[in-house]
Amino acid sequence: MVQAKSVVFVQLSSCWGCHQSLIDLYEKLVDVLPALNIKYWPAVVDFKEKDLESLPDKSVDAGFVEGVCRTNHDVHLLKLARNKAKLLISYGTCSSYGGVYSLANLSTREELMKRKYLGAESLVNPAMPSGNLPKITTSIKKNDESVKFDLYLVGCPPTTDNIADAFTALIQGKPVTPYIKTVCDECERNKEEKKNVKKYKRRFDGKPDLVKCLLNEGYLCLGPGTRAGCGAQCPTKANLPCDGCYGPPDGVIDQGAKLLSAIASIADMPPEELDKQIIDPIGQFYRFTFAHGLINKAVKTLTDERRNKEQKSAEEES
Ligand code: SF4
Ligand code: SF4
Ligand code: SF4
Repeated sequence: MVQAKSVVFVQLSSCWGCHQSLIDLYEKLVDVLPALNIKYWPAVVDFKEKDLESLPDKSVDAGFVEGVCRTNHDVHLLKLARNKAKLLISYGTCSSYGGVYSLANLSTREELMKRKYLGAESLVNPAMPSGNLPKITTSIKKNDESVKFDLYLVGCPPTTDNIADAFTALIQGKPVTPYIKTVCDECERNKEEKKNVKKYKRRFDGKPDLVKCLLNEGYLCLGPGTRAGCGAQCPTKANLPCDGCYGPPDGVIDQGAKLLSAIASIADMPPEELDKQIIDPIGQFYRFTFAHGLINKAVKTLTDERRNKEQKSAEEES
């Protein structure tokens, strides 16, 4: 009988979708769960942080990290997970590339706090919280700028098939082969007809054809610059464009730049018109990988300038 693998599941700032997807394995859990010796999983079982801290270093077979470091406490947890686990797995696109949360790097902390506590449309009694606040990191960095990972399981969230394959490999002690192609390579749509796009559409414009390539039809499908692995589930199974949630394929440093270049190369329109038609280019092309892209460094200089200004005016007021 195979000995159960000891595992910890660490949740940083995140939506819990990746951990929830593990539960979505349904009947496959019957094979997976008995083969795991869960040492820490506070999202599901009432573990306390001291349970993780008290584990001897490198005593855990595998640690799964979900989310990003938005607070100093997240950074502490991430380093703790690295110390305890022999194999550290970056679980999901947030942990691997910064995910949607890293778009927060476009704003300073003060701007974010004001937006959340004073400006959100759903607020009833807007007020800034004053006590028991965690220390917030100045920006969201990729987790692997702080610790080394042994494996990346990407996706927002990863598909249940990808998760099942990763756990089966872990349990059987086999390597996981990363997907190196793009979503287009997995897509079953007809890619033969290449045409120049005169108008880009939002996903709610009209009704997409069921077999033609969505990008050729003018929908912003990000398959050409997105890592394969999900089975091209949005374009193939849901008649929806790919949003790029599996991040960049191998060899691509900046997914947004790659995507923008793919979209621009088939656009039959002047640059100013393309600029008008792509309403939110950063949200569109860097939705999942802002912390990973080269753009993060350029924008950081601008937000640092705003941050310094805020700091200066706070000092002047006090
Ligand atoms: S990768 Fe997606 S599903 Fe997973 S924690 Fe981040 S936002 Fe949630
Ligand atoms: S652009 Fe989209 S629809 Fe076209 S082949 Fe690639 S993934 Fe499929
Ligand atoms: S098709 Fe694109 S957006 Fe949809 S799951 Fe796959 S990588 Fe993510």
